[in-house]
Formats: sequence, structure tokens, C-alpha cells
Amino acid sequence: MISLHSGEYLDNNIRNFMIPSERVAHVQVGNNLEHALLVLTKSGYTAIPVLDPYYKLHGLISTPIIMDSILGLERIEFEQLEKKRVEEVMNRKIPRLNINASIQDSIPFLIDNPFLCVENEDGYFEGIFTRRTVLIELNKHKRKLNKN
Ligand code: AMP
Repeated sequence: MISLHSGEYLDNNIRNFMIPSERVAHVQVGNNLEHALLVLTKSGYTAIPVLDPYYKLHGLISTPIIMDSILGLERIEFEQLEKKRVEEVMNRKIPRLNINASIQDSIPFLIDNPFLCVENEDGYFEGIFTRRTVLIELNKHKRKLNKN
């Protein structure tokens, strides 16, 4: 049994482990769905953040959301990809982590989300924090404890 209450792991600030904004694939609110689908497909990610030109976070866009929004009664209306904008269909209700949050703070939200968007005090997008990172760090911490 390992103790996680050593202050070494759960109390760590997420800042040191997040993927910084400049390495995060994203789209802008005004982009059309064709562009968003292109970025999602090329990057291989299921969902990516939606930002405005000032780097404020507005929501998330995903391939399932896009496909659902162009689903007609009898066919997929591909021509809508060019016409619709990301901000019309994106998911606005998303959990947000403050840059000063700890790994411990992130865990309840990571149960249902593979990644969380990180913002600073002024609401500017700083990057993302992934469930994968938590598991990698937990594994490292466990190995370290096992060695001692
Ligand atoms: P991973 O932790 O690599 O399994 O990623 C989980 C999810 O986080 C991916 O499906 C994406 O939605 C998102 N993600 C991870 N890395 C990036 C990135 N560099 N840019 C945009 N989204 C990312």
C-alpha cells in the first residue's frame, strides 16, 4: 500500500505538469467547422480547446459535436461544414482549472474528462492538464516509494 499524502505528489502544482498553450492544438471561435475538423483529424485528438484572438477560453470542439451538427434527416450535410462556425456548436460547459490548482484539485474533474483546460487569474488560456499526466506521475511516485 502506498501513501499519497507525502506532499510530494498530490500537492504538486499542475503548472509544472501541464502542456503549455503554445503546444496545444486549438481553433478560434470564428473558424468554420471544416477548419476545425481538419485540425482535429490532423492532430489525431478527439477534442480541442476553442479560443478567441486574445487567448481567452470559450469552450471545446470535438469530432462527434461537428458530425452531430451536420446530421440531416436523411444524409450528412457536408456543405454545412463550410457555413457553420465553431462558436455555434462548441461545448461551452466545460470544467476549468486555475493555474494555481494542485494535482489533488484536478482529480474529481479528470474522472469524466481526459483533459482539463487551465486558465490564469484573468481567464487567459495557459494550457491543458491531462489524465495521462496524472497517471504517469503517479506511476513515477509509486516506483520512487517502492525503492525506498
Ligand atoms: P492524451 O493525454 O495524450 O491521451 O490526450 C487526451 C486528450 O487531451 C486528447 O484526446 C486531446 O483531446 C487532448 N490533448 C492532449 N494533448 C493535446 C495537444 N497537444 N493539443 C490539443 N489537445 C490535446
